[in-house]
Amino acid sequence: MNDRRIEEILDFIRMLYPSETPIPLHAPRFLGNEKKYLIECIDSTYVSYVGRFVTEFEEHIKKATKANHAVAIVNGTAALQMMIMAVGIKPGEEIITQALTFAASAAGIKHAGAEPAFIDVDRDTMGMSPSSLKSFLSCNVERLVDGLYDKGNGRRIAAVMPMHTFGHPARIAEISAICEEEGLMLLEDAAESLGSTVGDRHTGLFGKAAILSFNGNKPVTTGGGGMVITNDETLAARVRHISTTAKRKHPWEFYHDEVGYNLRLPNVNAALG
Ligand SMILES: *Cc1c(COP(=O)(O)O)cnc(C)c1O
Repeated sequence: MNDRRIEEILDFIRMLYPSETPIPLHAPRFLGNEKKYLIECIDSTYVSYVGRFVTEFEEHIKKATKANHAVAIVNGTAALQMMIMAVGIKPGEEIITQALTFAASAAGIKHAGAEPAFIDVDRDTMGMSPSSLKSFLSCNVERLVDGLYDKGNGRRIAAVMPMHTFGHPARIAEISAICEEEGLMLLEDAAESLGSTVGDRHTGLFGKAAILSFNGNKPVTTGGGGMVITNDETLAARVRHISTTAKRKHPWEFYHDEVGYNLRLPNVNAALG
């Protein structure tokens, strides 16, 4: 887009919104049963990560996206960390993501111990460019028996993680085809794209797993919140386990079989969702 075109668009927006107050990119609206459910949640005393609203919210998201599994997490950034750890990416491995994104894409990668590598987006989709991915893979990568390695730093490349900017889908089918050809895992940062589909498939269901965010500036909000969606049952169970303190199911005993995390979405937040 050239500067003149941007000016024209801004003029149009000023005509629609003549006031001096800033136009919010996203402002949450609470027009439904939010208050009713919040009161119900408080009255139930189940305000933490166990409760019917968490389960119901996961079911709603499964229905909306047609994902087979959904695990509610405390926010999108933590959901990224849990997803990356649960798929078995090891500390020091590299994940190719896009330069145009919210900082959390890279922060989530780092929280999981992995390292981000940034490639360009397409101007029209603002999502990861398949041609940038191709040229990165042909110029910067060495193919060894156990996988692809970044020539610049020697790191093993574990996954590719595009993001669907402002809900506009990236060229995800092309990216998915490249990943398949190269034997690379595809993960999606679908934090901004709840409700966006490509063909009849919801964004986030083109690879192994994806995350959604329910922060106040996202299509649906729980105040703070996130989710991992996937069609892989074992992976969903793994995300649930490590994010719920790694506690084994038992009627009274507290047996945690590894160092777990306490990153599930509280019932109070799920009630809002
Ligand atoms: C919002 C967002 C996140 C993180 O979600 P939080 O719920 O705010 O932690 C991650 N990636 C992208 C692209 C986002 O827009």
